[in-house]
Formats: sequence, C-alpha cells, structure tokens
Amino acid sequence: MLRAVLCVCLLASASAARSRSRSDESVESKEDISIEEVSKESGSAEDESSEEYGVNRPQSPTQISSNEEVSGAKVFRVSIKDKNDERDFERIRSKTFIDMLHRSKSDVDILVRPSTYEKTKDLLRSANLDYEILIDNLGKRIELENPAISEETAELVGRQGHKLTFEHYHRVEDQHGYLDYLAETYKDYVTLESIGTSHEGRELKLIKISSGYPNASAIWIDGGIHAREWIASATVLHIVRELTEYRDNLPEEMKQVDYYVVPMVNPDGYEFSHSAYRNRLWRKNRAPGSGSCQGVDLNRNYGYKWGGKGTSNYKCSDIFRGAGPNSEPETKAVANYIGKKKPEIQGFLTFHSYGQYILYPWGYDKKLPPDYEDLQRVGDIAAQRIKEKQGVKYKVGNSANMLYAAAGAADDWAKAYGKVKYTYTVELRDEGSYGFVIPSSEITACGKDGFEVVRAVAEALVKTSG
Ligand SMILES: [Zn+2]
Repeated sequence: MLRAVLCVCLLASASAARSRSRSDESVESKEDISIEEVSKESGSAEDESSEEYGVNRPQSPTQISSNEEVSGAKVFRVSIKDKNDERDFERIRSKTFIDMLHRSKSDVDILVRPSTYEKTKDLLRSANLDYEILIDNLGKRIELENPAISEETAELVGRQGHKLTFEHYHRVEDQHGYLDYLAETYKDYVTLESIGTSHEGRELKLIKISSGYPNASAIWIDGGIHAREWIASATVLHIVRELTEYRDNLPEEMKQVDYYVVPMVNPDGYEFSHSAYRNRLWRKNRAPGSGSCQGVDLNRNYGYKWGGKGTSNYKCSDIFRGAGPNSEPETKAVANYIGKKKPEIQGFLTFHSYGQYILYPWGYDKKLPPDYEDLQRVGDIAAQRIKEKQGVKYKVGNSANMLYAAAGAADDWAKAYGKVKYTYTVELRDEGSYGFVIPSSEITACGKDGFEVVRAVAEALVKTSG
C-alpha cells in the first residue's frame, strides 16, 4: 500500500520529468523526493536469496580461507560489451563462486583464487566473455602496498607530536591521534567530537574546521566507509592537513566554508582488513555474525531507497544491506549528525576507491536529480583541474549511469534527506592496476586529487551564497 502511494506521487510528476529526459536517463522533479513516503519504502524485486547461491559458494572475498589463497589470487577484468554480455555474466555470477571487486558499464573486475582459476577461465570461455588478467599475483601487490616505516621517518614522527605520516597507511589509533593533535594545536578553529561508536566500541571522530564566519555554508567529508579502500581515509586525512596545517595557503573561497570531516567511518572493518592477508579485502563493517556472514555494507544501509537495486538481503553477501534503514551505528551516527546540521551542510563528499570517478546522485536508479547540470558542472571543474595539475583523468557523471545502480548509499541519502546540494562520491585512483591495494606512495597524489574536488565545491558554495 505504501508503495502504491509513492507510485502515485511519482506519476504526478512524471510529465515534468519526461520533458527534461535525455536518452535512457530520466530527471526527477523535486516532488519525487518526498521523505515521509520514501522512508517507509523497503524491499526489492532483486533480492539475492541464499538459495540462489548454492551451499558451496564462497560468498565474498572475505571468505578466502587462508593467507595463501590471497597471495596467489589474480584479478581478471571481464569485458561487458553489450546487454548479452551483461546477462551472461549475471547468469554465471549468480550461480557460482565469482566475486566482483569493481564494476563499471564496460567491464567487471573479479577476484580469482588459485583453487578456482581453471574453473573461472572455463566459465568465462563458455559464456563467450572476453577477459584480461589485470593483476597476476595479488600477494605481490599487497607486499608493495604499505612498506615498513624507515628509521629516519620514525625519528621524524617522534618529534612531530603525532604518529601519522602520508607515506604509509596507518591504523585507526594513529589516525585519531593526528586529529587529537590538530585539535590541540589549532584550538582557535579546530574542534573535535565523537559522533558515535562502532559495533566494537571504536569512536567515530569528527573534526570541525571553522571558517569563523557566522552562517557559513559547510562541506561534509568522509572516508573509509568500505574497509578495504585504505586510500580513502588516507586521502581525507591529507585533505584535513591542507585545511589546517597549511591553512594560510588555501584559496580564499576555501577559507569561507566550514568543514565537518569524519576520516574513518568504518573503523572496525578497517582494523579487520589490516589483521591478516586473508582479511585484506574485507568491505563491510563488523556487525555480529560469523565468518563472511558478518557485517553490513554500510554504503547500502542508508535510509533512502533502502533495499532497492544493487543490494542484498543475504547476510553473507558483500553488499548485504542490513536489517533496516540506518540499522548500523556507523550510518546512524552520520545520518543523525547531518540531520542536525541541515541546511548548513551544502556539500557532501564521500571518498572511495577505485576507478577515478566523480559521481553524483542518483545511485539507486538511472535517474537524475533536478539540479544535475550544476552537479555536472562543478564535477567537471574539479576533474579539469586534476587533469591539468596531476595529469590523471577522472570521469564525471551520474552514479547509476556511469557504474551501476546501488540503493541505500550515502550520497543518495545526503541529497534526499540531508538536502545537500553538491553531493558526490569520489572513486579515487587507480584504474585497476593495483585497485584496492594501491601503494601508500600514492597517498599524496590522491590527497591532491581530492583537494581539487573540495575546492570546486567550496567555490560553488561561496558563489551561491555571495
Ligand atoms: Zn567503496
């Protein structure tokens, strides 16, 4: 019944949407974002039930049984040229052991364990799907990812008042130590608070960097929602450094905006992904459960269109959406905080890896928000600057159209419920050569990429309010 009420609402605005539609995309009018109605919507025709998987299917990369299975794993890039390829790939994926690491419109990266190498090749060949080997030995990539801290660096670290460097991936304790240091050192414009605690009791620390202007617009920045994307929180911390320690060098517009930053949204998952090779590709949080049937995909748990496309109700899936909208302490903390700060927060940036994309809503389906031209324009400015300064290309576009539909993500929630205008998901470097295990030597480069996105949004906000 509730779904029927919602449909009437959508139909009422359908003519307005049609008049602005382009090709297979459609544009939503403002009336479509009716919070009261959508908050009650749940369920999906695309549930992945446990029966579909078969009993022997290792459900996710996290269920690799040993460190050796990770060391010897490969990553294949499967080419998806048309609808037929898509259908064939879905057919073998839903019935077998294939684990997706990354997906775009034209290809899918899958993890291939030593024990399933021959079988995977056979399956892809029998479905006439082309593929290339993107990573031949995942273990070798992991070894290069995070080299030990040199004596020289350790000495430097000893003198700087905190343990964080931007040449290494650090554990949550060091990340939080850096935030403590900043709050202590830059008391006049930096404040620190805990917005909640994770399942395992870790703090979710938020650093606020104030412009000092009353009624300033604010930008929300977060990272680390997916445990295995280590580059995301490191990038956000690099941005935080620019906004605090190097504040004097900031472009004027950036000084006129307040920032609310949570560098680590999923501390439990992140710590788990550091605990052993076999856990390196863990994605979810650590909600109670057993084995890979533990944890919730926090980026499918937010309360807008919760339970829709690209999500699973199967606990062992890597895209398990949780028991209900915002059921997890991590998503609840973010949602509550942003809810309290409406309408001050007008920019929302959530950092992920990989693929080099600047994506805007909607993600739940191939639909565009009414102001998508503004979002495209600001995203293009950021991408253009990254190209000029850093020499790498970020693709800009709508999430569901550029990649795939995925409901319950943070960006859709921020746009619909938080009423945040400039909402983006940034997929950082690289394009797959290292994927999730991109070496820590890339932190600074990614930090600079991310900085340009923050800058473009800050400029748009200052221009709007001025
Ligand atoms: Zn992610």
